[in-house]
Amino acid sequence: MFKKSFLLLLICSLTCTEYVFSQTKSGVLSGKVICVDAGHGGTALTDSYRVGPGGEREEWINLRVAKILQKKLLQKGAKVLMTRTADDTIALWRRAKIVVDNKADLFVSIHHNATADANVNFPIIYFHGNASENLAGVALGKELATTITKHLFEGNSPVSVVSDFTIFPKAGAQVLRGTYGIPAVLAEAAFFSNPTEEQKLKQEDYNEKEAQAYTEALEAFFSKSIPEIIPKNRIASVPPFMAFQEAERMTETARRWHQDFLDGQVLMKNSDTTSIRQAYELFTRSARSFPDSYVAAECHANRAVLLRLMGKTDEAKQEELRVKEFYVKFAVKR
Ligand SMILES: [Zn+2]
Repeated sequence: MFKKSFLLLLICSLTCTEYVFSQTKSGVLSGKVICVDAGHGGTALTDSYRVGPGGEREEWINLRVAKILQKKLLQKGAKVLMTRTADDTIALWRRAKIVVDNKADLFVSIHHNATADANVNFPIIYFHGNASENLAGVALGKELATTITKHLFEGNSPVSVVSDFTIFPKAGAQVLRGTYGIPAVLAEAAFFSNPTEEQKLKQEDYNEKEAQAYTEALEAFFSKSIPEIIPKNRIASVPPFMAFQEAERMTETARRWHQDFLDGQVLMKNSDTTSIRQAYELFTRSARSFPDSYVAAECHANRAVLLRLMGKTDEAKQEELRVKEFYVKFAVKR
């Protein structure tokens, strides 16, 4: 009898311990299947584009942040899928397949950015497709824009939350396209082409801050009801705007993206035909040079105004639609 009750007590205490243990992990991330993708990998010998002025490579930064994030999410009770855990080359389609095959609840693709202008440094978060359709992607993007700005930029930075069609006008980013239907974003937290930022990104404690930003964003996202993701192009279909691709974005012309925007604004104040045409060309060039910059939405909005002045109403409407679907209005909460 004594033995039996002792046994019962033991079972109870073990169960209770387990219960308490799971209680500590009962946050919103507990049990969630999250896929963490460290962008690129294994291209040190073949790729001279994704390397900072001090020799740090994007794929290495991505992997460090991803591994710290993996640890943090596991501590929160999430089930974490990693697309890679070493400096390996993994095909983009395979990364997307991991997400879909495992029915992940959420997918984040971790990247860092480069551009010709070494002064540029701010976060860019991409969702797939149209903002009015990919509501979950936009919501996740906004959460991440908030936390990355808070942890890496002291809450003081411009930030872009944009469609991946801004940079890949024909089909968007493959990992986001291949996982559409699951809440997902691809985030470029900072620019390693900025020498000061590159030095920070080399430091593990700075990578830890970024992983913390992801963790907080995911917690915020799952603590609200998850917005829906409507099939692509059901509500809106935006015609492609051919932006410069990676190599072209490193040219002298592309380096003038911000000056072109400022010059366009000055010219736009004049009402003569030549100024209107020139302003239009400058906004177009700025948007081509840096289609995901924090002034790109304004460039397209101004193009719409100028197209109307030129009597091109249909084209103006297309530009207005582009601004609405591809560029999320976002102000950093301070
Ligand atoms: Zn990248």
